[in-house]
Amino acid sequence: MFEQFIPNLWVQRSAWFDINVGIFVSQNQALLIDPGISADEVDAMHQFALKKGWDIIGIYLTHWHWDHILGPERLPNVPIYAPPYYDEVFEPEKHDRTLIALTNWEKEAGISRETPFVIPQPDRIFANHDTLIVGNAELQIVHTPGHCKGQAALFERESGLLWSGDNLIDYELPFVFHSCDAFIENLENLKTLDIHALVPGHGASTQDQAEINVRFSNSLTYLHDLKALVKQALADGLSGTETIARGLEQMPITNPEALRPHQINIGQTYLEFGGEAGAEKLGW
Ligand SMILES: [Zn+2]
Repeated sequence: MFEQFIPNLWVQRSAWFDINVGIFVSQNQALLIDPGISADEVDAMHQFALKKGWDIIGIYLTHWHWDHILGPERLPNVPIYAPPYYDEVFEPEKHDRTLIALTNWEKEAGISRETPFVIPQPDRIFANHDTLIVGNAELQIVHTPGHCKGQAALFERESGLLWSGDNLIDYELPFVFHSCDAFIENLENLKTLDIHALVPGHGASTQDQAEINVRFSNSLTYLHDLKALVKQALADGLSGTETIARGLEQMPITNPEALRPHQINIGQTYLEFGGEAGAEKLGW
């Protein structure tokens, strides 16, 4: 069910998966953001927009991870807009891993499909600081690497809306698929924006200023601690496995579901700062 989060934005949390999908509207023009996640939900989203009398002018994909790219196949004539470096998904390894992750999820969820999934090919890949026009509103493309290199948030200055992609989620930790250093830089940059309404890719949205500040400080504290941990471990000559063990002691995690992402974050960051994987499988 779509709820009006701020005057220009409707948001729905999928019933299948904890992900936010959105419709940004201005002057009856509608931009779909990360539409998904099941075929039924995408079709319902389409019907919802039609009933409102909105003209769907495009789909914006915040990044190429499988859970954010499922909408376009149900909306074949709608232009697809993508963030900087979206193209990296077509590198063979990333391409195959994306399809495997989707197949595994669909199997677990009991979703079957008649035709194989094809990763959407965008009509336009934006550059950082480009502007996406919807009606008389301007959405700024803000490149946000760290979780994924090919990721960008949307920021509307007028309302202070930030659709952040997989940044500033209210989980216990950020998921560092790409780079700890880039993630820190990205959040420091987002912090300079005048944000009044935050919609992350997953978890709860908020217009509470104190909550927005807490999300920044929690994520940044985690990332700085992660970096310091790994740098010290490398200076001490620790292996990846030893670094993970030390990390679990020095950066304890309370939510059992966050334990595995935490371990993988440590492995990923160990590789980022020059550690050798050796025989171990480290990182995402
Ligand atoms: Zn995501």
